[in-house]
Amino acid sequence: MNTFFIEFRDPLFSIIIFFALIFIITFFSYWWGRYKRKEDYRHLDNFLKQFRSLPSQKELKGLITKGELPEKSWLLLAHSYYKSGDYEKSIEIYNELLKVGDKSNYRETLFLLGRTYFRAGFLERAKNIFLEILKNNPRTPQALTYLLLVYEYMKDYKSALEVLDSLDELKKDILSDSAYIKSLAIINDFHMPTDAKIENLLEIYKHTYQLTYLVYEYLFRVDPKVAWENFNSANAHQLSDVFWRLKSEDLDLDIIEQNGYLRELYTARGDVALATKSSVFELDILINLKQECCATLSFEYVCSNCKQLYPFAFTRCSSCHSINTQSIELLLSKNYYRDFSEENNSFQ
Ligand SMILES: [Zn+2]
Repeated sequence: MNTFFIEFRDPLFSIIIFFALIFIITFFSYWWGRYKRKEDYRHLDNFLKQFRSLPSQKELKGLITKGELPEKSWLLLAHSYYKSGDYEKSIEIYNELLKVGDKSNYRETLFLLGRTYFRAGFLERAKNIFLEILKNNPRTPQALTYLLLVYEYMKDYKSALEVLDSLDELKKDILSDSAYIKSLAIINDFHMPTDAKIENLLEIYKHTYQLTYLVYEYLFRVDPKVAWENFNSANAHQLSDVFWRLKSEDLDLDIIEQNGYLRELYTARGDVALATKSSVFELDILINLKQECCATLSFEYVCSNCKQLYPFAFTRCSSCHSINTQSIELLLSKNYYRDFSEENNSFQ
């Protein structure tokens, strides 16, 4: 029977105890390490979760009312929400600050709230905010400028022109804005006949030599003959997309023949054969392809003031609100229309 047991004085017993202890210590240290790692991960995850989910309106209200953070920090936070496009949170912070914040910054906070309402598309609320600022401080050009934009977006051109009068009294340069608002008012006037619209638009254009794209895009759309009669060859490049989309029957070949850029553009399009090369890379490629490949031109529009890129033409940049800063970029692209026509013809 004793042969099955090891005497506790036996050296083998000590070795077994030794290895058992090593095993227990190793197991516990491994288990403890795993547990700690999990705990650290969970703690960090919970910590980071706070930043992923934004505080609710109630939480924000509580945080601002407690006054644990200075007002400037809240303004910075609201601005970062505004910059990242989370206008709702930005508006909540400004509204709470207006209720409990320092009254010395009241007008500035009100302006920031109005600007956020405008950017978020709440035009009526933005209008009321700017009108409230101007009621107490009529000589605030920033509020007047935003009020002008609000009226312009609301298509209330009469009120927009009144705001321009106020800006003029403050010695602000209103030439471009005035021409732009007047042109928009003419184009969007449903009661004015097209002939009168053309005449008035050309009068504004000849008076300011601004809004080339807006005026000529409209003219070539409604009356290409009058547009060609009043065309200034120096503007050919900035109207590239208008010319590219102009119907073949509306082309004035005499004027095209006289203008170097239009000769290249319409040779590239395949209407005429008046150029063998072009200094514009995209036109040069199309001229050399001679309509043998399904390539065409597409266009991008860049604001030369803020470098914002748009897939559509604009007169006032919606990012920096400058007028007449559009620069047109030509791009080579696949002609899907030609592919589609060829596919349809193949079934006939
Ligand atoms: Zn811009």
